[in-house]
Amino acid sequence: MREAIATAEVGDEQRGLDPTVNALQEKVAELLGQEAALFLPSGTMCNQIALRLHTRPIGDEIYLHRNSHPVGAEAAGASVLAGAQILTFDGDAGMFTAADLEAVLRDPSDRNEPRSRLVCLEQTTVLGGGRVWPLAEIEAVLDVATANGLRSHLDGARLLNAVVASGVSAAAYAGGFDTAWIDFSKGLGAPVGACLAGSRELIDEAWRYKQMYGGAMRQAGIIAAAALWALEHNVERLAEDHANARTLAEGLADIPGVVIDPTTVETNIVIFEVPDAAGLTAGLLAREIELSRFGNRLRAVTHLDVDAAAIEQTLAAVRELI
Ligand SMILES: *Cc1c(COP(=O)(O)O)cnc(C)c1O
Repeated sequence: MREAIATAEVGDEQRGLDPTVNALQEKVAELLGQEAALFLPSGTMCNQIALRLHTRPIGDEIYLHRNSHPVGAEAAGASVLAGAQILTFDGDAGMFTAADLEAVLRDPSDRNEPRSRLVCLEQTTVLGGGRVWPLAEIEAVLDVATANGLRSHLDGARLLNAVVASGVSAAAYAGGFDTAWIDFSKGLGAPVGACLAGSRELIDEAWRYKQMYGGAMRQAGIIAAAALWALEHNVERLAEDHANARTLAEGLADIPGVVIDPTTVETNIVIFEVPDAAGLTAGLLAREIELSRFGNRLRAVTHLDVDAAAIEQTLAAVRELI
């Protein structure tokens, strides 16, 4: 990857002249079953541009799971940048159903009510434990969206984990949405970047926001080259991360005091509970094992820098500390 970065052909990305960025955008558009794609510095910018693109600041409402990234981890950008209202769902594992969506839709003829405008979902669900939305559930949600004139957006930060875990193609998952994106700096292991895909018309409009938010770059080919390299070399190996996560989950389930159902671990995220999560996190960190903590819940994420030996080391450390 470092060599691909060093040897990348570059040009002025803002003027559409960076051949490596252009190649990446074409590859991602095709991968996601969309017409066009736009290279951006981060997944957060993909979400924020999409939310702005699909809504207007005149009372539009966005439907999301309460544990989704734009709700808790994007500095309330939807309210600030898009000027939209968010209504959240509480379903299990970061998911909701077509019936949940149908139940909250507003009456378009009533001026008192917000205007139902956009539904977003995450594949895989980040705080839901890396769970994979079944394709049929996604299609049911999209059917309700289409029938009611809503736009739809897929946060595919870890979409390729879902693809590798399920065998369903990225285009099958993402092609039905108005916009969808993938992140290169998560399990794919590139240093920077994400790509937002959609129709040619929406991506042309997204360019305005890329410029407005300061996401238009110059010789961005040096980072796009890493993303291309990651798509070519680091997708199939996500299966190793999933196997490591499963081993970790099964090992944790055998430790008294740990609460986890290993059968819910489908990809590379392992969420579990322990009585003293703060103490365990600190003890693990002292051994250079870094987990995130949400209250009494801990989240471990496997990736290309974590091997099977590191999983055994982590299990031994948890056993000892507990
Ligand atoms: C990481 C993540 C994001 C944000 O991506 P960045 O590239 O870190 O800005 C958005 N959504 C989900 C589900 C994520 O996991």
